[in-house]
Amino acid sequence: MESAYERILKIQKPGTAGYIRFTKFNKHKVRSSDARSRACVRCNRPEAHIKVHGLRYCRQCFREVAKDLGFHKYGKEA
Ligand SMILES: [Zn+2]
Repeated sequence: MESAYERILKIQKPGTAGYIRFTKFNKHKVRSSDARSRACVRCNRPEAHIKVHGLRYCRQCFREVAKDLGFHKYGKEA
């Protein structure tokens, strides 16, 4: 989904004063750690991120690949 910034940027013509002013004051900050920078390496989902043990998966992908990675599931197997 495109953001409001991207939508307005499409309307502005490059090189014009309006474009320069808009990009100068409305450009997104580059952050070292936000939800988007912690996306899953398998499906790019930013939510429910697992970063312990150097894993960079979301919970859905972890559930699918955990057995291949060597994790054991204790208790009742469904
Ligand atoms: Zn994933």
